[in-house]
Amino acid sequence: MQSFNLQSLLRPHILSITPYSSARDEYTGTEGVFLDANENPIGSTVDQGAYNRYPDPHQWAIKQRLAPIKGVRPGQIFLGNGSDEPIDLLVRATCTPGQDNILIMPPTYGMYEVSANINDVAIIKIPLTPNFQVDIEAVLAAITPTTKLIWLCSPNNPSGNLLQADAIRTILEAAQQSLVIVDEAYIDFAQTPSWTAELDNYPNLVVLQTFSKAWGLAALRLGMCFASEDLIAVLNKIKPPYNISAPTQALALEALSHEAEKEEMVTKILAERAILAENLRSLPFVQAIHPSDANFLLVQFNEAKATFEHLIEQQVIVRDRSKVKLCDGCLRISVGTNDENERLLAVLRTMDTAPVSTDLPLGTGDEATKPELVSNT
Ligand SMILES: *Cc1c(COP(=O)(O)O)cnc(C)c1O
Repeated sequence: MQSFNLQSLLRPHILSITPYSSARDEYTGTEGVFLDANENPIGSTVDQGAYNRYPDPHQWAIKQRLAPIKGVRPGQIFLGNGSDEPIDLLVRATCTPGQDNILIMPPTYGMYEVSANINDVAIIKIPLTPNFQVDIEAVLAAITPTTKLIWLCSPNNPSGNLLQADAIRTILEAAQQSLVIVDEAYIDFAQTPSWTAELDNYPNLVVLQTFSKAWGLAALRLGMCFASEDLIAVLNKIKPPYNISAPTQALALEALSHEAEKEEMVTKILAERAILAENLRSLPFVQAIHPSDANFLLVQFNEAKATFEHLIEQQVIVRDRSKVKLCDGCLRISVGTNDENERLLAVLRTMDTAPVSTDLPLGTGDEATKPELVSNT
């Protein structure tokens, strides 16, 4: 079997690109008179804080603190403007438009496909199985010599479940000419270790995480990408020089010293998820609640569209996934606070006289006929 070679995976011109060299790259000291970056020396036009100096282009303070938390080396970390940025950079670093392809397993997160489309990169789609696991034989058969990226999302959005570790490992071992990306946006809500622990075993492994979910910092736009030092160096070479703003860096650093608070919020959200699932299960027009390792539930309703619209009318907004393949009749519901979940349930309870669809099997209201929410413990 051919072994992994990063050089041959990258677009040829990326190897020879000379990156922009910023003022903060050329002089990295912190003391002195800084007349090298055409900044405003006097101050900022805002009342709070001084933002007149460009931020650290490599966010070393965050990486130094994040590395021990994640069990990786600082050089294995790339920080992006949301996960969207590393998703796009990975496509641009490896896929020649009109020539290479990526492989995705729908139903999954939409940005992998969008980034490929923006870059005119072909997409191979191998659907997950009906219980939202990897169709391993079909995936292995579909990989071509020009498949540069294989996207796995675990826990998967919109289904909520973790993908089986064996399947991920099989792909990592088989796909030696591709990067295998495991998007772990929801890993803090799952009871399994992160794939970051395997980075030194698999040079083709890339792990994505984010500050947007468990850390409660979606507005900051800060995504994490973990991979080999060699691949991270490539991403650094092609990123916009100052991609993470100074306020974002400062707030992320503060967040990292409040890891216990993150864990407390996760515990609360998981407790609310269990209560919400139990209450949803008692509704006669709920057909199934898919097992979740994340902070949302994929719920199948007799009349998804009508339910969605009824909720909207009462200003309860959920995500309509009912037309997505393998998600027939499903709404994706984020776990809210207890009050928010109670409001959702109260609105749903005013639905129970709604007509029942004829094209789906009828819910009996008997709990035994509904899939149980799988406990993570
Ligand atoms: C929410 C989410 C992200 C996070 O995206 P950001 O750009 O970091 O906010 C990434 N992947 C998946 C699957 C998600 O659901």
